[in-house]
Amino acid sequence: MDHFIYRNGILHAEDVALPDIAAAVGTPFYVYSAATLTRHFRVFDEALEGMDHLVCYAMKANSNLAVLKLLADQGAGMDVVSSGEYLRAKAVGVPGDKIVFSGVGKTREEMELVIKGGIRQFNVESEPELYLLSKVASELGATVPITVRVNPDVDAKTHAKIATGKSENKFGIPIAKARAVYAEAAKLPGIEVVGIDVHIGSQLTDLTPYRTAFEKVKELTLELRADGHDIRRLDLGGGLGIPYERSNEAPPLPMEYGQVVRETVGDLGCEIEIEPGRLIAGNAGLMVSSVIYRKNGEGRDFLILDAAMNDLIRPAMYEAHHDIVPVIEPLAAAEQTPVDIVGPVCESGDTFAKQRNLPHMGDGDLIAFRSAGAYGAVMASEYNSRPLIPEVLVMGDQFAVIRARPTFEEMLNRDKIPEWLQN
Ligand SMILES: *Cc1c(COP(=O)(O)O)cnc(C)c1O
Repeated sequence: MDHFIYRNGILHAEDVALPDIAAAVGTPFYVYSAATLTRHFRVFDEALEGMDHLVCYAMKANSNLAVLKLLADQGAGMDVVSSGEYLRAKAVGVPGDKIVFSGVGKTREEMELVIKGGIRQFNVESEPELYLLSKVASELGATVPITVRVNPDVDAKTHAKIATGKSENKFGIPIAKARAVYAEAAKLPGIEVVGIDVHIGSQLTDLTPYRTAFEKVKELTLELRADGHDIRRLDLGGGLGIPYERSNEAPPLPMEYGQVVRETVGDLGCEIEIEPGRLIAGNAGLMVSSVIYRKNGEGRDFLILDAAMNDLIRPAMYEAHHDIVPVIEPLAAAEQTPVDIVGPVCESGDTFAKQRNLPHMGDGDLIAFRSAGAYGAVMASEYNSRPLIPEVLVMGDQFAVIRARPTFEEMLNRDKIPEWLQN
């Protein structure tokens, strides 16, 4: 559920009409709904009610400081995967003991920064990382809580680029090797084993892979406890999918996911951590764009937008579907015809949708991409020297720019011409 609905024939974000934002900031832009973000966080929080738990928002989905502040104010912890993300969490006041550090390639510098700043736990992904972490922690006179990310060899049945829980993926330690790695970890200085971590992929639309993975985690918990480890925390990762195509998708609800958690690992007496990203931010955001031209090609029509693959890369990168709708509500009787919806970048991959049925739209019309709040703005680039598009946050009837579009001057000033090239 979200807060983007037509009112009096105009698409709104909460109580704000999108054409008003377009007039203020220009197109294209991202717009997020505060009510939707907080609601999604609460739904997860409630899904785990009755179990000791912490919902750590995976900020790689959308790491704008305003979004983070909103969620932190709700009590969210944060899942970070780099120093930059860690500093973002700190910048909005999240205490170190509510931040978990994930990622397959943490550097020494990142370890030092995070240990000094305070951290709830490192989710360790390999033996070399474990050894380096032990060394860095010891040098700093610290003891860091860790989990080991285990790879349960479960097929998440999602797009290949976002499946992470199969043995051929680069993530985690094979679950069969876990006992040996925990035995090693227990001997290392500066390391305190506190639990187990698992994350099998993103955009999961079926609960079965979760059930399989969590059952394996339970089994491992019992084995590791028998080996003498104090396993008291389970980080179950994120990955719950959202309906990108509303007409024919109904992924499981957080409540049902919570039920699977309860049924599989609920009786272990462990504190449960989860790391949802997409489900919190995805349907809390739209990308709004304008039609530059309607072009009649041979046998097909094109809507050429002012947004492109550099602004929203998901269709080009994952063949992802986004529902695309006119900002001005079409009449119920309006005829729908197929069009290709494309951006202006010189790549055939710069195609948002092929032969999508839409009512007639022409030059200057506003168009909105749904489900663009996660892995949208954070993945944007300035390819073709197109400025990063602004982000706007709506709360009730107010809106604010939470990241401005850079000026061309700012963009050009980032490049430096060496002295020896100047004449
Ligand atoms: C990406 C990621 C998440 C969040 O995944 P979503 O699909 O956005 O919920 C959580 N944990 C880890 C370790 C990740 O890499």
